[in-house]
Amino acid sequence: MSELWRFSKDTQNTLNKTRLPSGGWINLWLNIGHYEVTQEAAERFGFSSAAVDILRDASQDPDFYEFTLPSAHAQSPDKVAFMPPGPERDEAIQNGIDAYKEWALNVCSKISQAMVDKDTRVALYWLGYVLHGFQDLGPHGGMPNPEHAALDSLKQSLDDDSSNVQLSRYYTQEFLRHIREVLGEGEFDLLRNWDGDGNLSKSEKEDLFGHGWDLSVEAVIDF
Ligand SMILES: [Zn+2]
Repeated sequence: MSELWRFSKDTQNTLNKTRLPSGGWINLWLNIGHYEVTQEAAERFGFSSAAVDILRDASQDPDFYEFTLPSAHAQSPDKVAFMPPGPERDEAIQNGIDAYKEWALNVCSKISQAMVDKDTRVALYWLGYVLHGFQDLGPHGGMPNPEHAALDSLKQSLDDDSSNVQLSRYYTQEFLRHIREVLGEGEFDLLRNWDGDGNLSKSEKEDLFGHGWDLSVEAVIDF
């Protein structure tokens, strides 16, 4: 089912040639991707197979639902790449970091709201979703997309660097550890022992977001 979210080699090439925001992600995340990094960590933390199914699927979704939002991918806004060093650039970077934290906190509040609503499956979805942002921190670390794309074109893509993948694994586990502490064992076990349905359907996701895929992703896929 989740294999449907994978792109063919041809589509990868198409995506790599475009200059879309967050354009570099495609390299790493189709080889050792969010899917694999999430599955590995979630299994290590003892999540059930239905829970793992939701988490690993959701961890890919910011690339579909918030593709053009830099803060969902641990990136600074594009304009930062064109600013000379100085206080104005520093401020823009700080704003990017703040926006990233706000993005993560906002998704975390969706996790806790779903827990309050006793909607474990949706809580698992948002947990997987927020993991994406932490995983992107490994290769991106706040780098704006134009710089990322420049490195890509020099064949020095950050997303292909195995030590960055290692960092993504580390951030994923640290966050799961953190969320276990914040929720406490009881609530964490509710998530971990989920034995209902697996990953959410596209229409269930559209209900959660109130919209479909990011338009530019739709455009690329159609193209
Ligand atoms: Zn991303």
